[in-house]
Amino acid sequence: MPTDVLISEVGPRDGLQSVKATMPTDRKFAWIDALYDAGLREIEVCSFVPARLLPQMADAAEVVRHALGKPGLTVMALVPNRRGAEAALTSGVHKLTLPVSASEAHSMANVRKTCAQMVDEVREIVALRNALAPGVHIEAGVSTAFGCTLQGVVPEDDVVRLAAALAEAGADDVGLSDTTGMANPAQVRRLFNRVRAEIGEHTGAAHLHNTRGLGLANCLAAYDVGVRTFDSSHGGLGGCPYAPGASGNVVTEDLVFMFEAMGLATGVDLEKLIHARAVLQAGLPGEPIYGMTPEAGLTKGFVYADGHLPREVQA
Ligand code: ZN
Repeated sequence: MPTDVLISEVGPRDGLQSVKATMPTDRKFAWIDALYDAGLREIEVCSFVPARLLPQMADAAEVVRHALGKPGLTVMALVPNRRGAEAALTSGVHKLTLPVSASEAHSMANVRKTCAQMVDEVREIVALRNALAPGVHIEAGVSTAFGCTLQGVVPEDDVVRLAAALAEAGADDVGLSDTTGMANPAQVRRLFNRVRAEIGEHTGAAHLHNTRGLGLANCLAAYDVGVRTFDSSHGGLGGCPYAPGASGNVVTEDLVFMFEAMGLATGVDLEKLIHARAVLQAGLPGEPIYGMTPEAGLTKGFVYADGHLPREVQA
């Protein structure tokens, strides 16, 4: 079924690596199953990082193997460097995402490399991909594209220049991430337009956060300027919110509701997605999860973009 937008679920990676608890492997399988059953067709299932740094991701290869058993699912993994890329490519993932910060301060603090060194790393990873698994898609995500908690303002010229350098280094597409939840809709529109003017069809996904309540407004702004892939997290899990009581990542349930209510098909069954919250919660007891649509329920008279009615209405 063709969809109007692609929702790329990042909860099993972005979400799980941001919480203290480690979800047991069989619970991860059950959660990924539930997300897939709800209709999500791209899931960032893990990151390939040393287990001593992120014990939450120690089972990355196992999780990939499980996810590869789902027909039609694009299995995605985050890799911070060449070593992670090698492990991910060996595991059989379909797509790699590489975070590259537009803020020098953030880049040094996170990976102890300058932005330029990270571009070189991406170039090496592309070469590795070409040698090991030429069919794998490489996405570079420009993190702190809209501002940085360390550096403050990140000049738009820096973001555009970095996006161009990443495309030149061989990234298939380059997305923009509001890592620290600082973006506003006017900025999202401006920056995606500028990046598209520079790298055209290589312009990738919007990874936006809800730290200050602007997540959906920012997604809509990105949609309005041609973005069609959106990262979000089931239950709004994770995303380093930096603001107590605030969700980090955009909540998948709310994002799906917005698009479907607007008549834009996502391929996702909202009721199944809402029921799947119990599966997530069972794997992470006591962890706060977010979402307005799950609290309020679907609107009376709600119809999915493709014209079908919610199951509870049909019954
Ligand atoms: Zn995030």
